Amino acid sequence: MPKDELDSLMAGLCRELLALGIPVSGRLLPQVQVNTRAKRRLGCCFYQGGRYWIEVSDRVLGDEALLRQTLVHELLHTCPGCRDHGKRWKAYAGLVSEKLGFKIERTVSTGAQDGPLRHEEVKYILECQSCGARIERMRMSKAVKAPWRYRCRCGGKLRRVL
Ligand SMILES: [Zn+2]
Ligand SMILES: [Zn+2]
Repeated sequence: MPKDELDSLMAGLCRELLALGIPVSGRLLPQVQVNTRAKRRLGCCFYQGGRYWIEVSDRVLGDEALLRQTLVHELLHTCPGCRDHGKRWKAYAGLVSEKLGFKIERTVSTGAQDGPLRHEEVKYILECQSCGARIERMRMSKAVKAPWRYRCRCGGKLRRVL
C-alpha cells in the first residue's frame, strides 16, 4: 500500500471515530510510520512533546482488515485517559466493535510459529550513543530510570530519547 493511501486510510478512520463521538486527539501527526524491524508488533502509539504518532508493522500492510483494526486500536490510545488498555479505552473499543462491526483485539494469531502479533505500547526508548541501537520498553524499569548506569551490547552509553 502506497504511503499516501496509508495516511488517508488513517484520516478516514479518524473521521469515523470522531463521528461516533470518540475524541481522537487533534495532536496526532497525520503521517503513519511503518516499522520493518519489530517483528511481533502490530502497531504502536507514541507520545512525545505533546504530539502523538502512530506506527504500524509492515506485516499488517497486506491485510486491510488487520491494518484497519490496528490503526483504530492505536487511534483510541490518543483519546484522553487512554494511554493504557484501561476502562475508558475498553469502552471506546467496545463502541467501535458495536458500531463499525470490527473487533479491536490486543493480540492477533497469525498461525505462524513465532507466535501471535501484539499491540505493544512503547512508552520509553533508550538509544545507544555509539551505535544508535534502540531499546524499546513498554514500562518503567531500572534502565529507563537510570540509563547512564547501563551499557549497550556494543559498550556504548545509553540515553533516554522517549
Ligand atoms: Zn494498545
Ligand atoms: Zn551500541
